[in-house]
Amino acid sequence: MINPINMEVMKSAVPKKGMYENVLRQFNEAADIVKLDAGIRKILMNTNNEILVNFPVKLDDGTVEVFKGYRVQHNNALGPYKGGLRYHPTVDIDAARALAIWMTWKSALVGLPYGGGKGGIQIDPNQYSNSELERITRRFTYALGDNIGPDIDIPAPDVNTNAKIMAWIADTYCSIKSPTVRQINMHVVTGKPVGSGGLVGRDRATGFGVVKNIKLWAALNKVDLKGKTFIVQGFGNVGYWASHFLALEGAKLIAVQDASATLYNKEGLDPEALNAHATQNKGQVQGFENASVLEAQDFFGIECDIIIPAALGNQITIENCHEIKAQVIAEGANGPTTIDAERELLSRGITIIPDILCNSGGVIGSYYEWLQNKRSENWKLDTVLEMIADKLETAFQHMLEKSEEYKVNWRVGAYAVALTKLEQTYKERGVFP
Ligand code: GLU
Repeated sequence: MINPINMEVMKSAVPKKGMYENVLRQFNEAADIVKLDAGIRKILMNTNNEILVNFPVKLDDGTVEVFKGYRVQHNNALGPYKGGLRYHPTVDIDAARALAIWMTWKSALVGLPYGGGKGGIQIDPNQYSNSELERITRRFTYALGDNIGPDIDIPAPDVNTNAKIMAWIADTYCSIKSPTVRQINMHVVTGKPVGSGGLVGRDRATGFGVVKNIKLWAALNKVDLKGKTFIVQGFGNVGYWASHFLALEGAKLIAVQDASATLYNKEGLDPEALNAHATQNKGQVQGFENASVLEAQDFFGIECDIIIPAALGNQITIENCHEIKAQVIAEGANGPTTIDAERELLSRGITIIPDILCNSGGVIGSYYEWLQNKRSENWKLDTVLEMIADKLETAFQHMLEKSEEYKVNWRVGAYAVALTKLEQTYKERGVFP
């Protein structure tokens, strides 16, 4: 069993299909707005490389199972491919493509020297022992071979993967290189344990970034976060740390939902106690005392000020968005809101802080881990969080400027920043040959 407390995002309800379609619709809308060059639009609509590996692993009972692993490399115009690996039954080529494309926009938007990639294995990790997961991870890394590398493609944690899994990837990748160059390749992955080249603060980077964005929204709208109520879907790495940091601002967590249960308490749920409970309970919130249990479908309709979806994609849909009463939705997950739901929410004046900005604290943290490894340095927590906050402030500002310039919503504004940057790069460099 992997340690659930370190999981990047907890699993929640089964996602609906069509993430890739969602991402292309978002792209085309923004490409029209910025009048993206037709050739560059064609390039960006396609993924550069799609890697599918079938690899065998011996299970604890001696039988052999063949697993499917994916890595989609969307674009590397700005730097090496970058993005997480998720272990989940919903991982397929459609999901990997969509998630890889979002990583390209995310890195460009927040000014990182990276492109976009994503992948994973189509498994439910809870069905495997710790040693099976280690063999699955190592054999997957071996199968990927030189498709990944510190200057080629740099994986990181995502849904159901954690620092321990990143350490296995780094160790395997380094072990299949010559022993003389072993240590210089540890930055082939980010999100490693601190003892193995990990960055202090990478664990909380995504949740910290979500709350930094909420604070920027609050400052812009002169909203005092003290006493505001919020609900969180998913209580893994992102959900927990976002709750932790938002509670520090004086806001009150009143409901949490994961695959195991939907919990509610008007007087507030203590994020630390809930995290302690989940850690003892395979990462699940179910069974936490001092909370009533609600029906899953009643979650998004709870009276509150802020909603943080921090689980899987396509959770806020045309079916449930009408019930939403919050002022702001801070997208901790990738693609939690469908396009139709977004349209309806925006028409009702609800603000959405788009995923490619809202959850980008994670990949910004990854960038600093990579840089720290390259420079053989070790940074302190305060320094790391300050550097992440600084990049988010700049990106938030850029998003506001583009939204204003084109008179569009924040998601299109954020896309406009990313697409303009990529367009400039292609125009400067041209297309080989
Ligand atoms: N999986 C995270 C994301 O979706 C982090 C990616 C990274 O750090 O490379 O942004």
